[in-house]
Amino acid sequence: MAYPDLYMMIDGQRLSGGGRRTHKVVNPATGEAIAELPLADAADLDAALAAAQRGFHRWRDSTPHERAAVLQGAARLMVERQEALARVATLEQGKTLAEARIEVMMNVGLLNFYAGEVFRLYGRALVRPAGQRSTVTKEPVGPVAAFAPWNFPLGNPGRKLGAPIAGGCSVILKAAEETPASALGVLQCLLDAGLPGDVAQAVFGVPDEVSRHLLGSPIIRKMSFTGSTLVGKHLAKLAAEDCKRTTMELGGHGPVLVFADADIDKALDTVVAGKYRNAGQVCVSPTRFIVEAGVHDRFLAGFVERAKKVTVGDGSDPASVMGPMANARRLDAMDRLIGDAVAKGAMLETGGERIGNAGYFFAPTVMSGAPLDAAIMNEEPFGPVALINSYPHEAAMIAGANRLPYGLAAYAWTSDAARQRRVARSVEAGMVGINTAMIGGSDSPFGGVKWSGHGAEDGPEGIDACLVTKAIHEG
Ligand code: NAD
Repeated sequence: MAYPDLYMMIDGQRLSGGGRRTHKVVNPATGEAIAELPLADAADLDAALAAAQRGFHRWRDSTPHERAAVLQGAARLMVERQEALARVATLEQGKTLAEARIEVMMNVGLLNFYAGEVFRLYGRALVRPAGQRSTVTKEPVGPVAAFAPWNFPLGNPGRKLGAPIAGGCSVILKAAEETPASALGVLQCLLDAGLPGDVAQAVFGVPDEVSRHLLGSPIIRKMSFTGSTLVGKHLAKLAAEDCKRTTMELGGHGPVLVFADADIDKALDTVVAGKYRNAGQVCVSPTRFIVEAGVHDRFLAGFVERAKKVTVGDGSDPASVMGPMANARRLDAMDRLIGDAVAKGAMLETGGERIGNAGYFFAPTVMSGAPLDAAIMNEEPFGPVALINSYPHEAAMIAGANRLPYGLAAYAWTSDAARQRRVARSVEAGMVGINTAMIGGSDSPFGGVKWSGHGAEDGPEGIDACLVTKAIHEG
């Protein structure tokens, strides 16, 4: 399939060329460049800011019907364009077509949910004596700067655009330079559904230049970022200079507590599929398997057996279950983290190396007995690596889960109802899956605690994060 021409979408205009710097977009399955992406200069960003200001004043007064029509219309177009959107995502990010199609449908579900939710952005009237009135209202926060990473090239832009639009804000999206065409495809569905071009725009650039420029402007009133904790902390400081509101979806190091009383086969079938989804490049990926001693050996053997059967190949081949990693940086990270763990005494049970020398393929990997001081036990691996360790009892398992400063997704497998509640309450995480890997949904908040960030996307909370509260008292 042909890869589309790339551009920035500023104030409804497609901009490229004009002597702008460019970035090479690469197909991770081949390692070859497939397109040149134009990068914003300061004048482009100023133009986007001016349009966002205008777009905000227009869109803040839109009716719920107008917002719902755009959101539902875009969702319908995404269904129609599902195959084309998915193929572009696979070409530039590497994931399997099956996973890319699901991403399109996640956006469809979210935009339709928001389309209903825009009718429920209620305020409240307070009890007051006759002649007085006090009301509490919700208003859109203002123009939003949104930064989306490459791991969900369609889903991340869908989230970053959907919530501000539902809330009556304008938004400037800087999606990852590695996966621009997917983001542009999502934005185009919204524009084709009638969204004015100054309400939602897309820029690309040198990330630090773009974020400093946008966050340095008083026009931007909120920043939404998904990416690493390191970059998130840097951006949060920039946002703090101007007291901008923030939503931060940062890294994770997903603990999975497996108790001896669990349905081990069901747990294995679920978590192995979850581990290798998107080659492990998922912030809620199950990563640290904290297994009760009595079932450790059986769990480890079952994991390794299943990992060896995962078919790795080009994401556009229907036989592939796992595609390549999204970029060469991830391969280097895998080599460093796995090498360090082995040097410190971890057992490499399967995988641990690249597959072939074209593209960024890496074998599904399982390690056991990695010591707690290995970098991989502390740093988000963001790759197809499962870390399986044995623990003596529940208290040690919960302490193990809470050992790191991350708190995004946590999982537990146990058939004991009282323990399910204990673990759900004790684990420090924004999302907990008990006997399931399904921890999200368009109606459910998605976000973390501690170093995994703050605020949530999706659900009513996703729109609320784009609103400010005003109290009006009339005497
Ligand atoms: P990175 O941390 O440099 O980049 C992560 C994302 O942030 C990219 O999309 C990048 O374009 C963007 N970014 C980087 N610097 C920025 C800046 N100054 N302003 C605005 N955006 C900026 O590194 P990476 O190599 O792309 O990924 C490495 C790590 O990032 C992974 O190991 C993982 O921990 C994390 N990550 C997390 C998510 C997530 O869903 N939470 C997604 C992608 C990457």
